[in-house]
Amino acid sequence: MMLRRTRAKQVAPVYELFIRDYPSPDEMYRADSNSLRSSLKPLGLNWRIAQFEALGRDLVRDFGGHVPTTREELVQLTGVSDYVADAVLVFALGQPRAVIDANVARVIARYFGLREHAEARRDGQVRELADGLLDRAHARDYNFAMLDLAALVCTARNPKHDLCPLRRTCAKAANAKAVAS
Ligand code: SF4
Repeated sequence: MMLRRTRAKQVAPVYELFIRDYPSPDEMYRADSNSLRSSLKPLGLNWRIAQFEALGRDLVRDFGGHVPTTREELVQLTGVSDYVADAVLVFALGQPRAVIDANVARVIARYFGLREHAEARRDGQVRELADGLLDRAHARDYNFAMLDLAALVCTARNPKHDLCPLRRTCAKAANAKAVAS
């Protein structure tokens, strides 16, 4: 939720302090509203502060102060999108799911030669292909690798095909090569 429209570099120090100050949903819920606000203020986007307040309330009121462990329950929480729910299931709980944000959806669309568009992460075909690619025995590593590939190599502009481990089988790279020759 902190990473929403915010760079990881900006989030990292805020996250560290936040986890130190509010190590459980209960402590976040009982925190003084002003201190929660000042903890999250460096990230901007003030609507996010209200989301965290509501999230603490939801967790304490509806789940006894525990983070739920099913997707159906997670998405009932304020501020928890499909992406956030999948990230919790994979990175916190080690469950085998493909985490798809706009960047990962871009990689999948390019690799399989699908149309790239802003809402590709909600596309059923992209979900199906992502689930097919998932290394279920190493879901965490797989998802971190996809996020890194999307952020560092298969970037929105000027993807670095030459450095990419997928270049030999990628539809977009093949297309770029055909155009260049
Ligand atoms: Fe992206 Fe190019 Fe790699 Fe294909 S080869 S996944 S387009 S960087």
